[in-house]
Amino acid sequence: MGTAEAPYLSTLNEEQRVAVESLDGPVLVLAGAGTGKTRVLTTRLAHLLATGRAWPGQVLAVTFTNKAAREMKERIGLLIGGVVEGMQWLGTFHSIGVKILRRHAELVGLKSDFSILDTDDQIRLLKQIVAAHDLDEKRWPARQLASHIDGWKNRGLLPEKVPAGEAHAFANGKGAELYAEYQERLKILNAADFGDLLLETLRLFQENPDVLADYQRRFKYMLVDEYQDTNVVQYLWLRLLAGGHGNICCVGDDDQSIYGWRGADVDNILRFEKDFPGAKVIRLERNYRSTPHILSAASGLIANNEGRLGKTLHTDLDKGEQVVVRGHWDGEEEARAIGDDIEALQREGHVLNEIAILVRASFQMREFEDRFITLGLPYRVIGGPRFYERAEIRDALAYLKVTAQPDNDLAFERIVNVPKRGIGDTSVKRVRELARTRGIPLYRAAQEIVETEELPAKARNSLKGLLESFRRWRALLDGLPHTELAEIVLDESGYTEMWQNDKSPDAPGRLDNLKELVRSMDEFENMAGFLEHVSLVMDSDALQSDDKVSLMTLHSAKGLEFDTVFLPGWEEGLFPHQRALDESGRAGLEEERRLAYVGITRAKRLCKISFAQNRRIHAMWQTALPSRFIDELPESHVAVEEAASPHAGFGWGRGGFGESRFDRANPFSTGYETPGWKRARAAYDSGESVRHAPHFIEGELVAREDAEATPFQRGERVFHMKFGYGTVSAVDGNKLTIDFEKAGTKRVLASFVERP
Ligand code: ATP
Ligand code: MG
Repeated sequence: MGTAEAPYLSTLNEEQRVAVESLDGPVLVLAGAGTGKTRVLTTRLAHLLATGRAWPGQVLAVTFTNKAAREMKERIGLLIGGVVEGMQWLGTFHSIGVKILRRHAELVGLKSDFSILDTDDQIRLLKQIVAAHDLDEKRWPARQLASHIDGWKNRGLLPEKVPAGEAHAFANGKGAELYAEYQERLKILNAADFGDLLLETLRLFQENPDVLADYQRRFKYMLVDEYQDTNVVQYLWLRLLAGGHGNICCVGDDDQSIYGWRGADVDNILRFEKDFPGAKVIRLERNYRSTPHILSAASGLIANNEGRLGKTLHTDLDKGEQVVVRGHWDGEEEARAIGDDIEALQREGHVLNEIAILVRASFQMREFEDRFITLGLPYRVIGGPRFYERAEIRDALAYLKVTAQPDNDLAFERIVNVPKRGIGDTSVKRVRELARTRGIPLYRAAQEIVETEELPAKARNSLKGLLESFRRWRALLDGLPHTELAEIVLDESGYTEMWQNDKSPDAPGRLDNLKELVRSMDEFENMAGFLEHVSLVMDSDALQSDDKVSLMTLHSAKGLEFDTVFLPGWEEGLFPHQRALDESGRAGLEEERRLAYVGITRAKRLCKISFAQNRRIHAMWQTALPSRFIDELPESHVAVEEAASPHAGFGWGRGGFGESRFDRANPFSTGYETPGWKRARAAYDSGESVRHAPHFIEGELVAREDAEATPFQRGERVFHMKFGYGTVSAVDGNKLTIDFEKAGTKRVLASFVERP
């Protein structure tokens, strides 16, 4: 490098600079959120290229997501001027793994054009293997085997290395044998699953020292972001590759390790110094992202974890606003309040791209999506499909549609064989042909075909049974509350059971989504009204814009930053999540707390945490307690905000927040009477005019229609929680017909309507 200092170095602080310029030998940057770890990595890579230490193709750089890789590439271009070509080894572990594996496929028994199996293919293959061993699929589900195999692969274990004790975990000791057979079958099919992309590359290196040596020479420098979330196989892989020169720089934060449930091992950080003797450990303590209040709130919270490496953080930014904590009557009110806040921010000139809502569980997104569509607020869901586009939601909706609208061909075809009931593609094709030639809907064609010998007996009986079920469900449409009917349909069809039997890690989340779907139906008068709403929501192209609010889970928010961050749903059982507590006890709780730390530290300027006093689970209200994490926030950095809604009196408000510091004796009981609950109850008993609060008495849902006669008049402009603004065109007891400005004319319950 010349004598003039490169401009990209001058913006770094002392420690960051050391981290960027210590190019030779192992370096570990261990530092808290927002201290510039990712920035150091990016600058380091730029520096390597700018000083001619390495060609773009000689640097291996690992990011946690593909998006992060793209961003890093862009930033490097900006730092050293111009687009950098040839950085082919900048990507996620998987994308780098597959590239190496294709080049040497034949050495591990594959061809270079091998295919990559998705989860469905993987399960199908494992099912065949389980069946070939005469094992009962019910007792030993293929999905369970799949998750054992994934676990072994994450730990770098080939079949012969699986410890005997663990092989017993499946089918009385057959686990490892089935795993070995699966690997053989993959080779015959010329296929690899996701885990193989790393495990097979590792094996390639272990069994072919010349290949390994070649890559060790090629990758003169290695860089790894989010190091705290690497798993064992990734660690072994890195260690082998860096074995020669040891020019490896890893950056991470033990407080942000949030993938333990997927096999990530934070001990990799502790091992680093042992495995790379003489490693330089650099700590960064200045946070450039968040205001002091936000940073102190996050630090105070994470201090409740034991066994941390510990670190200090400070920032030179202006004090800023305290972290806001706000209690709400229920989740719907929470979504409305956040929607209002965002509109207010927008009016003040803030861009939506700088605003994020981070949820613990994906089912929480539904309420926000519905609300944003009502408000016409553009939003994007990051790291997954929108709620109504999720596979399990589409399946469930298809069942409900066929029940209410049998002529809906798309819906019928979607679920005719889900769960699998022996109506294969050929049978469906026969039905389709009949429908086409006769010009009738599939459902009617199915009715005709089961009276003939056209289909094989098994398929015919199965289809007959399904049609019979739909007939029965349809008969209940008018007699039964639609939420109950939905539950019956999902239960009797075997759909819920299909996911209950599913042992993959995403199955519990899908079951939660199904519950949330049924829950959301409660807000509509009947099935038809609900289905109409869904079609409205699914067809929301009107919201196209480049400036959007981001909606995502806390897990996918890692490494990102936003001006304003909303953190809803901080309630015991939801966050910390009950499942994490049940399955891994204290370790589970600590991982949840790290997740909370990740959430708060995404915020640059404003962080709003909220909780609802009541969550509806199915049609039942459950009283929720504010998360223990709220109590753990240092009080001086927190401002409690009154919910500015018509029923604020029943929210927690300031008093509630204080009170929550007391009784946690039985946080999960449903009959727990919070002070707010008692106030609501007293108000209701005394006949005070309350429209939203008294939905339940003694834990039972009371039909909202029972409230009181409608106070609305024709011609009045009103606001509806779902459909937005409109004008009342007719009043019929407690039901109103309203011409909505966005949603058209609808008949709704007065109890959902209020004066703007
Ligand atoms: P996380 O742990 O959340 O991944 P991080 O340690 O990777 O955070 P970065 O994302 O690299 O932190 O940096 C946080 C913010 O601080 C970014 O906006 C970055 O541009 C800014 N930043 C980092 N270092 C400096 C610096 N020396 N001067 C100015 N801004 C900086
Ligand atoms: Mg980072």
